[in-house]
Amino acid sequence: MNCKETRALFSEFYDRDLNQKICEAVKEHLTECQECKEEYKNFRKGLKILKKLRLLEAPRNYMEKTQRH
Ligand SMILES: [Zn+2]
Repeated sequence: MNCKETRALFSEFYDRDLNQKICEAVKEHLTECQECKEEYKNFRKGLKILKKLRLLEAPRNYMEKTQRH
């Protein structure tokens, strides 16, 4: 598996949405390739920030809805 293939699978890999064989191949590449390892770290960081933003947004939307009633 090359870098491009590995990076294209980050989201599925994170969600554990890959079959065992591909998952192992991604893991193997990440242990061998420092660049992709960093890239995956950043990818995970980005997802965490996204999650936080969604959590912050949810109550605000809820408030807006309830205030209309
Ligand atoms: Zn790589």
